[in-house]
Amino acid sequence: MRPTRILLPTPFAVGPVNAYAFREPPVTLVDPGPLFPPAQGALDAALRDLGIARDAIERILITHHHPDHSGYAPVLAAETGAQIYTHPDTIARMVRPLGDLDAEEALLRRHGVPEPVLSAMHRELQRILSHVAPLGAVQPIEDGEHVQAGGDDLRALLVPGHAPGHLAFVGPDYIVGGDVVIAGITPNPVLEVGEEGRRKSLPEYIASLARLREFEGLPILPGHRDEIGEPAPLLARYLEQIEERREQVLSALGDRTMQAFALSQEFFPLRRGADPFLALSEVLGHLDLLQERGVVEELNDGERIFYRRL
Ligand SMILES: [Zn+2]
Repeated sequence: MRPTRILLPTPFAVGPVNAYAFREPPVTLVDPGPLFPPAQGALDAALRDLGIARDAIERILITHHHPDHSGYAPVLAAETGAQIYTHPDTIARMVRPLGDLDAEEALLRRHGVPEPVLSAMHRELQRILSHVAPLGAVQPIEDGEHVQAGGDDLRALLVPGHAPGHLAFVGPDYIVGGDVVIAGITPNPVLEVGEEGRRKSLPEYIASLARLREFEGLPILPGHRDEIGEPAPLLARYLEQIEERREQVLSALGDRTMQAFALSQEFFPLRRGADPFLALSEVLGHLDLLQERGVVEELNDGERIFYRRL
């Protein structure tokens, strides 16, 4: 049986997040929200309405590590004895929420992020991470593995791009989709620096959209906003938008040799309140796509990275 959506408030710009509850055994919650008292209050009230005792929760599935979805999970697991299930890349990020901060800051500098902006990004990261609890024992699940939730058999589908290790859970007649597709929002391909360097988040995201298209007949229960009954047109629109933006980035670059941060500021300026980290993430994603197509090249003078049209 389809899980019940539970709307939880968050302290983030994205607004409320969706948790999903399976009432039948094994009683399961997907993405129990951020570590944020109003969210905990809303979750407790919803569980009471559904007749689910906290102690009855056996399993917690996490789609991805972003705090609006996963922040409270470790506390809930510790308090109820529930087992957390998620992808190993998500576990790695929840165990070390700051990741390799030095490597990431060095990379941001090479892309031209000025020091005051870097400090502001750092403060925002600390604020976001204050809504994450430390992680205990977790059951890792890989792409293609199955997990039972509320009597349904869910297949884990690895769909990275918005976050590394992002899982969607494919049920018998629905998909619990996390943040891969959200009605009215194009999810950000968030900049990620792993052990192997910067991940190509936007190319990864496009590949994930293609994976989801194999299940186009199934409605998506997303991490934010309402159910997407017919994902096909939305998936097609995402791909069109990405293509459009890629061409805009190319024409904005023109004949200049530029750093990614400066280019990102032309699209999403700080003075208009845009988040500089997400702006840089997006423009780097399109520069990756343009590089893959052989229309743009990356120049590296040892300290700084520039982009130029070929
Ligand atoms: Zn989210």
